[in-house]
Amino acid sequence: MSAGLKVQAARLAQAVPALREAYSQALARWVGDPVLRLLALPIITECYRSPERQDELYKQGRSKPGPIVTYKRGGESNHNKLPTPALDVAFLLPDGEVSWSGLLLSKFARLMKAADARVHWGGDWPKFKDRPHFEVVG
Ligand SMILES: [Zn+2]
Repeated sequence: MSAGLKVQAARLAQAVPALREAYSQALARWVGDPVLRLLALPIITECYRSPERQDELYKQGRSKPGPIVTYKRGGESNHNKLPTPALDVAFLLPDGEVSWSGLLLSKFARLMKAADARVHWGGDWPKFKDRPHFEVVG
């Protein structure tokens, strides 16, 4: 998992402007918070995703082992558009581990939604909860 600044900047550059702006604001508020900044650092794990990679992910939990991580086939996900209206977030912990903590993600979701009311969080979806997922609609 690469959390390097260049990789992070390259991933964010794939996002549509409204999502880029919302993420930048949320990240700035996170690292500006003396408590949150000590807990973990938000990182973008994926923004644009090729249709081929989407098809590979779709196989997981179906024809390949592992849990189901998506209900979208290649070309159907917002991640497959460029610029991309969706991005996935995780956290870099002080010990170097990567975390998908639901608590951290819900805290970050609050900052994302405060930054732009058009942000939708996958953790709010009624059926398949996709907590690392954020997207801007409309
Ligand atoms: Zn996603």
